[in-house]
Amino acid sequence: MIEKKKNKNAYKKGLNLLEVYPTKFSESVVFVKYDGPVDNFSFPFPDKKVEHIIVNLCPTEPWAIPNKVILRNETPDFLNKLETVRAKYFPDSHCHVVVNYQETGLVNEFNQYKASANRNSSFAKGEFLHLHTMEPVYPYDAPVLIVKNILGLNIGFDQNTIDHGILILDTQTITGIFEHYIQKTEFNTRLISISGTGLNENKILKVKPGTPVERILEPHVKAGIKYRVFLDGPLNGTEVEDLTQKIDWFVKNIVVLEERDYKTPFPYLRVNELLFTTSLMGELRRCVYCNFCDDICPVNLEPALYWHCYIRGEKHKARLYGLEKCIECGLCSFICPSKLELLQVIRECKSLK
Ligand code: SF4
Ligand code: SF4
Repeated sequence: MIEKKKNKNAYKKGLNLLEVYPTKFSESVVFVKYDGPVDNFSFPFPDKKVEHIIVNLCPTEPWAIPNKVILRNETPDFLNKLETVRAKYFPDSHCHVVVNYQETGLVNEFNQYKASANRNSSFAKGEFLHLHTMEPVYPYDAPVLIVKNILGLNIGFDQNTIDHGILILDTQTITGIFEHYIQKTEFNTRLISISGTGLNENKILKVKPGTPVERILEPHVKAGIKYRVFLDGPLNGTEVEDLTQKIDWFVKNIVVLEERDYKTPFPYLRVNELLFTTSLMGELRRCVYCNFCDDICPVNLEPALYWHCYIRGEKHKARLYGLEKCIECGLCSFICPSKLELLQVIRECKSLK
């Protein structure tokens, strides 16, 4: 049985980026050879009691790895691993698997698994597993928002979910915990997606954490272009300044954007290509008071206000206007027609002591 969708009025708007930027990946997974030192898998088990585990199988960013690549038609096998990890390390917890409501095949697989678990009286796992469906709207899967959507709990925008007994795990981390700590088999690779206007083709790679970003991207970047590289997406990920940087166990994707010297107003109206303007040519860009950023902010902040405080040199003043509630989704920067680096400014103001 599917549990009731709770996300309807959890917070306002958001953006269905999967419709705006339908991103295709080549089907095959390519292994990236690297003989240098790599990072061993380890998972920082929380010292707090875990009551809920949320597993998000509803990515809302188009550059995320598709479920079919991660699950490889082995959903029951994955759910067995999930239950084994839950029972061994978090026995008092319930698992909440969140699925895109359009992925009916996955929903059916989950329900069949749960029905068979419930039929088998030696298995208690059915009662601890819960399926939730969600619309793939960004940033519905931000930690604070997914907790509100799925569990109906309000936690502070600046709080860590684990402080409330809620652990959010991705599928590859669950597999890692199972294989490394329970099966005690070698687990030293991770799938990551690479995509963006700076690449010849969007791909899924199998990478050993510890591999430098330049080694990963080298064969795939278009020849002769200037480009910018983002770990975990251009919306709220981090930009890579030094391509010798090594990727760690938490990186899910790399986005490579061709650097252009012009602005594209209203880039969200473009379809069929992943195009973000990357105006770094030094031109002075201005806020045009369009209010797009205010309108799109899912937690009702006023990003333009922070920008104006910032450019007036009043960074501390920005903190008076609810800055700590920002979930750093990056939608304001994305939507801004002047392409102002709003999230960057917000992070800078937030970090002030
Ligand atoms: S201020 Fe910007 S980054 Fe922060 S929550 Fe609002 S839209 Fe997202
Ligand atoms: S979206 Fe950009 S230009 Fe429009 S009000 Fe916000 S900061 Fe100003």
